[in-house]
Amino acid sequence: MNPDDLLAGLNERQLLAATSDGGPLVVLAGAGSGKTRVLTRRIAWRVAVGQTDPNRVLALTFTRKAAGELRQRLRNGGMRDQVVAGTFHGIALTQLRQRWMERGIKPPTILDRKFRMVAQLIGRRPRVEPLDVLSEMEWAFARLVAPSDYEGAAKLAGRVSPLPEGELGDLMERYQQEKRRRRVVDFDDLLALAIRDLKDDADYAAAVRWRHRHLYVDEFQDVNPLQFELLRAWRGESSDLFVVGDPNQAIYGWNGADPMLLDNFAIREPGAVVVSLDDNYRSTPQILTMATAALAGKSGKLIPHRPDGAVPTLSSYPTDLSEAAGVAQRIKMSHNAGDKWAHQAVLVRTNAQLVPIEQALADAGVPVRVRGGSGPLGSKEVKDALRSLGRPGADLIQSLAEMDNSLESASLESGSLESPGQESSPTEDLSPAEIERRQNLAALSRLVHEYASLDPAPSGPGLLAWITTVQAGEVGVDGDAVELATFHGAKGLEWAVVHIAGLEKGYMPIGYAKTGAQLAEEKRLLYVAITRAESQLHLSWASERTFGTKAVKRQPSPYLEMMQSAINHLKRGYRPVDWKAEIVKSRQAAGTNKAKRSGKNDKNPVGDPVFDALRTWRSGRAKAANVPAYLIFSDQSLRAMAKRQPVTKGQLANISGVGPVKLERYGDDIIKMVKQSQG
Ligand code: ATP
Ligand code: MG
Repeated sequence: MNPDDLLAGLNERQLLAATSDGGPLVVLAGAGSGKTRVLTRRIAWRVAVGQTDPNRVLALTFTRKAAGELRQRLRNGGMRDQVVAGTFHGIALTQLRQRWMERGIKPPTILDRKFRMVAQLIGRRPRVEPLDVLSEMEWAFARLVAPSDYEGAAKLAGRVSPLPEGELGDLMERYQQEKRRRRVVDFDDLLALAIRDLKDDADYAAAVRWRHRHLYVDEFQDVNPLQFELLRAWRGESSDLFVVGDPNQAIYGWNGADPMLLDNFAIREPGAVVVSLDDNYRSTPQILTMATAALAGKSGKLIPHRPDGAVPTLSSYPTDLSEAAGVAQRIKMSHNAGDKWAHQAVLVRTNAQLVPIEQALADAGVPVRVRGGSGPLGSKEVKDALRSLGRPGADLIQSLAEMDNSLESASLESGSLESPGQESSPTEDLSPAEIERRQNLAALSRLVHEYASLDPAPSGPGLLAWITTVQAGEVGVDGDAVELATFHGAKGLEWAVVHIAGLEKGYMPIGYAKTGAQLAEEKRLLYVAITRAESQLHLSWASERTFGTKAVKRQPSPYLEMMQSAINHLKRGYRPVDWKAEIVKSRQAAGTNKAKRSGKNDKNPVGDPVFDALRTWRSGRAKAANVPAYLIFSDQSLRAMAKRQPVTKGQLANISGVGPVKLERYGDDIIKMVKQSQG
């Protein structure tokens, strides 16, 4: 390929990042700013100009899906399959396999039933959920925390051990011993083993470093210390490292990822070149406004490059089923002749939410594919339950009743599974793993009920056959289909039309998010979901949801208020801020030392004491709430207040932009200010 063609369509900063040589490079930039584009173009360009042998490139990322996307983009850039692109685990395993083969070592068995082993080690313990213990152990391994250091490290990180003090470290030890005894390794061991080989054998390390001498990492905000250690081992002394990431998209903290590794990259790496990109090429200005609102204005500036598009929508539905049907309808409406279904996606917070949507789409005749993973049906508990439900001779109806009973009685004992995280629900006591487990089982129960209502002679094997068909009904897995994914699974991807469903308290933020750090991660997740959209964004929630057989009232996500304000703002014809023009303006103003408010803006009643007071008040409220000022009230509303000078709530309510919530929240303040200004 002609090198110049590979640089075509890159802006100045992107060009710098793609072609700069020397030093490790880090690109720190927001969603849709072209980080992945720059990474793949850099590889292709360096190959084209002869700086790189494509067979010596290793491109890393964190999920299999993201690795697939990376490979696809490299292929589009003419790379075919010479470049190795994969996940840390995938590459580590390939290297270990090869080494074992070369040395005639019998490969260890990979432990796929880790959960069962941990559960056995714990034994029967009331109020201890083995999945929580397992996640906590995985966090410690990912953070390179030795068993004896666990308590201290967990305290520092604000984590609560699911076991009494001192026991988790012991259990980590016992788990390691048990794996050795049975000659099995788990996925994290693969990374640790790969690191050990590289550290212990200098010749081997030199060979690996020669083979993968150009290192690239996408989504670097998701790296955990164990993976980082492996990256260091792969890299040796080389500075041929290129990483890109966005701190606002760090969504794997629960899993041990440490975004500080990205934030501090330049400090740790002498001679590192840092490039930031502020232009957004993916989304319309309207969608970026929503994204900024989701982060409560904390995101860096993303300068929109796409022309204006439709104002995003927010819909509420009476039930989860009507929501799913509504989403299906909207998908059909947005699907013009000649469009690809794959230009649309439905995103949800948890796997269990995928099921009703998938069914509604299938019912509406919309081809659908679940991205990356099998949803709740792939979970361990559902597989186990299916195995026993599907036994020939099993009394399906009886087993189903037992399953529903156990879900119900569990919900009586410890609160309802049906309302994960709803306020005042005793589910608050349930562990995250237990909530997820029950949601998955509830999703299964719903499927079984449906099957039982369709088959005049329901049976276990009949159920299995039906479920297989339903799953295969994710029409044409390779064909054109609407994509269904969780927020986590959607990272790095993009679609013209994005539907985000189930925006309820308990899902967004997820019920178990309690600490400031967890809630901040939830907001980033919403930001990730919103920034997947290119031209249309549709948000929805349902005020009732059925879990198993029980209907439960739901509350809207607390973040929807901000979303609604942003939408109202956009509807009133708000022009998203042209940051470039703003920057030029502020530079000019600084240059001429001109007073900021020169009175030239004839739209704002300069010198109007009421308007001034309202503005000052608004910026105080905005600061306190950490949101952009326009989310409190628009200039237009403030102008109307200054003009009409409302002294009662009734008068204030007549002003556009003042809804019941804002009236309640800010009404007294405003009336007081108006009265004061009248003397
Ligand atoms: P994310 O943080 O979501 O992973 P990203 O920073 O990796 O986003 P990309 O996926 O590389 O962003 O780019 C977003 C979209 O913008 C892509 O469709 C890409 O092709 C397009 N794009 C990037 N840079 C430019 C450019 N200079 N001109 C036109 N389109 C661009
Ligand atoms: Mg990307």
